[in-house]
Amino acid sequence: MKNQELAELLFEIGDFLDLGEVPFKPDAYKKAAIAIDSLEEDIFNVYKKDGIKGLEKINGVGKSIALKIEEFIKTGKIKYYKELKKESPINLEELKMVEGLGVRKIKKLWQELKIRNLKDLEKAIEDHKVSQLFGFGDKTEKNILESIKFLRQGQGRFVLRDILEEIEKVEEKIKKIKEVVSFSIAGSARRKKETIGDVDFLVAIKDVSDKYVVEKIMNTFAQMDSVVKIIAKGETKTSIKIKNNLNMDLRLVSQSSFGAALQYFTGSKEHNIALRRIAMKKGYKLNEYGLFRGEAKIEGEYEEKIYERLGLKWIPPELRENQGEIEMAIKNELPELVELEDIKGDLHCHTNWNGGKNSIEELAKEAINLGYSYIGINDHTKSLKIENGLDEKRIKEQRKEIDILNKSFKDFKILQGSEVDILADGSLDINNETLKTLDYVSISVHSGFKMNKKDMTKRVLKAMDNHYVKILNHPTGMIVNKREGYNIDIEAIINKALKNNIAIEINSYRGDLNSQFAKLAKERGVKLVINSDAHDKKELKNLEFGLYIARRAYLTKNDILNTYEKI
Ligand SMILES: [Zn+2]
Ligand SMILES: [Zn+2]
Repeated sequence: MKNQELAELLFEIGDFLDLGEVPFKPDAYKKAAIAIDSLEEDIFNVYKKDGIKGLEKINGVGKSIALKIEEFIKTGKIKYYKELKKESPINLEELKMVEGLGVRKIKKLWQELKIRNLKDLEKAIEDHKVSQLFGFGDKTEKNILESIKFLRQGQGRFVLRDILEEIEKVEEKIKKIKEVVSFSIAGSARRKKETIGDVDFLVAIKDVSDKYVVEKIMNTFAQMDSVVKIIAKGETKTSIKIKNNLNMDLRLVSQSSFGAALQYFTGSKEHNIALRRIAMKKGYKLNEYGLFRGEAKIEGEYEEKIYERLGLKWIPPELRENQGEIEMAIKNELPELVELEDIKGDLHCHTNWNGGKNSIEELAKEAINLGYSYIGINDHTKSLKIENGLDEKRIKEQRKEIDILNKSFKDFKILQGSEVDILADGSLDINNETLKTLDYVSISVHSGFKMNKKDMTKRVLKAMDNHYVKILNHPTGMIVNKREGYNIDIEAIINKALKNNIAIEINSYRGDLNSQFAKLAKERGVKLVINSDAHDKKELKNLEFGLYIARRAYLTKNDILNTYEKI
């Protein structure tokens, strides 16, 4: 279904129009975008059934927008969008990545200071011009600068969630070619690293000397719609740049070397060096073409067999960092890593009782679709005014709604949790009498990020001493590639979690806790919980990204609270 892609395009058209001086129009595009985004039916079907007329029935879609949707359905593109982007002096994509910069602020920066891109913005901040603008101020200027610094650090690095769609597009295109025997993603994306530099694909065909087939595959890859630049195109490797400056490489090998190439190009470098050393000790030579004894190739087609020949169990890609996994594989002591199928429910999602998009019932139904046994509603509490957090009275009202809904399910349960705010002094913003009525209590820090380490640690430790608390959400406050965490003594937090039997969250959206600390928590005997923090039912499936962190942290099913039928 392309509804989301279309909605995004329309929304961006609205953004571009917002930057200009066209009255009314931007709202129309945004309204249409929101309607299409929440449409249950595939937009292609709507068009197939009733043509333009059907499209015009969608909220906010008039004749002119309907024509553009038709163009999208027929060609996959909207010319008008390309024109707007080309004509606009402003690099909207780049500026929107800065935390706290929306279109309205970007427009102001352009009108007043002629800021077109990040570079202009940095310069203006250096000259302290931004803080003098109405609606900005010193604090905003400082925040913007910090966000830019962070973006620069992470520049060229991507979060898997943000590029997954592009990866899937390549997969779909290449796998369709009938001569392709094997296909895999390789590199850090296969290892599911927290951030990824570029994406490597590996494709095998029977015979790499078949020029016609080689050409066909390389052309398919290089001519995808998303390609903005072909960096190099050859017979064994093609490199492209797609939008957002993401580089992608496709390597072509013969099927008889596929396993060796996959092992080699998955990495990490450290893992591969250690593995080659083992091969040498055993009198073999290991490279991207195969495992050799002298001139004779012993293995090449299957990755698993290469590990086997070296006397190792196959190692899941997530663990391949030479951090002890090789020794464990030799001794057959690799943990059985947690799988997506092990997850029985999500304990952190938001409904339209606060900042979320969907009703409790809609979230529950989606959770049932995902095969879960339960879902934990984890709405914000009253201190988080911006999210319309719940007070004691509304928590009670919500309970009633949940109780009624629960009567309609068999083998499924909605749990009422709450993402209770940890106030600056470490107390919670909901009274114990109400906490007692909840199925479980999660706690989070959402304010005062600039506290020093000692005070922040004290604050969270105190909150963890409330004996109703079951889960500590996103314990460091970081958002991978976007925001640094606050200062906190994570070891002290882990020790307290052990003492008070509190589970620590791996938040799939934020990437917090990271795999290094999650591993430490496991080693200390603390349970973890993998949650989506969904604010939209579509985001429930993002839990997979937290799962990758858990796997990189060597976690098994038993280490994770929400793999249990009952929590
Ligand atoms: Zn939160
Ligand atoms: Zn949340």
